[in-house]
Amino acid sequence: MSSQFLADHVESLKPSGIRKFFDLASKMENVISLGVGEPDFVTPWNVIEASYHSLEQGYTAYTANAGLIELREEISKYLQETFSIQYDPENQLLVTVGASQAIDLALRAILNPGEEVIVVEPCFVSYGPAVSLAGGVPITVSALPENEFKVTPEQIEAAITPQTKAVILCSPNNPTGAVLSKEELQGIAGVVKEHNIMVLSDEIYAELSYDEQAASIASVDGMEAHSIVISGFSKSFAMTGWRLGYVAAPADLIAAMTKIHQYTIMSAPTMSQYGALEALRSGNDSVLEMRESYRQRRNFVVKELNEMGLDCHLPGGAFYVFPSIKSTGLHSEEFAQKLLEEQRVAVVPGHVFGESGEGHIRCSYAASIKQLREAMGRMKRFVEQYQG
Ligand code: PLP
Repeated sequence: MSSQFLADHVESLKPSGIRKFFDLASKMENVISLGVGEPDFVTPWNVIEASYHSLEQGYTAYTANAGLIELREEISKYLQETFSIQYDPENQLLVTVGASQAIDLALRAILNPGEEVIVVEPCFVSYGPAVSLAGGVPITVSALPENEFKVTPEQIEAAITPQTKAVILCSPNNPTGAVLSKEELQGIAGVVKEHNIMVLSDEIYAELSYDEQAASIASVDGMEAHSIVISGFSKSFAMTGWRLGYVAAPADLIAAMTKIHQYTIMSAPTMSQYGALEALRSGNDSVLEMRESYRQRRNFVVKELNEMGLDCHLPGGAFYVFPSIKSTGLHSEEFAQKLLEEQRVAVVPGHVFGESGEGHIRCSYAASIKQLREAMGRMKRFVEQYQG
């Protein structure tokens, strides 16, 4: 009965398709989960210690709305050194509650009711709903498996209308692991500049790129004014629970986002900001160690999947593989459901990341090599029943 009080645009949102499998899996025994999108590492100890120390010193109040200035200075330095992009810590950076809040803020700051945002699928499940919640209209474009799930400038251009305000890109990508090269980003940047729209560039997996450092579209000539760069500490520093991210953008957009942030959040958690400060100041050693471990696991899983007849390209980044399940003839939902019931392995059906994800499943390889070996053995037994 209470649903009579719900807003229509919220009632019509579908719940995330990922959760359903985890709720099911959590009630079963002996399940190996390749489903969740989070590191299997604990946050590096020096980061935990720095946060703990900040509490001991009594730093328990709000910070500046935009985040600790020392942290913004470190983020600015990091962006300059890693991606050759320049953001003024005073007025072009905002520290947020995860990349999730940064996405929400960016969309709310730029969208008028009914304006369109191009969402490249398969993608992180939040983009479409976040656009709708901000009053916009998501327009989907499919990155295709035959192009290793990389969207082309022509595809983006074909989706642009007079109502288009922005396009959301994610490289390295969740769920496909695809990484757009500098040249590919230049092509897309050309279309963005020509049609005078914005890019929301979700670069949360940028540190987890295995073959070459992932590039930022904001580093392409003339793209500074057209880019909103979104990133954070969840994935590369194994800090999902700390809820800390950031957004870098032109000063007027950061000022607009800061207004929304002031009224809705105040400031990101103070102890998490001290942890993140240490993460950036202490350098990259722990990230490099985790990255190397992910790389080995990626290589193992891709080889196993291809050998069992689930075609899988070698993804350049993130910690997901997105193999085709066509050889089994099963729908991705059926595949995931049966695999969980029969072999106790949890994966995510590809369609939850958008229609073009159908025919695929997402497996996260952020699990121990022992678990991955066992999971691959179970999957092999499972798919053999369906292959001719
Ligand atoms: N962007 C992408 C592509 C993600 O995969 C995720 C988490 O899975 C997020 C953003 C959210 O990150 P955060 O934990 O920083 O909110």
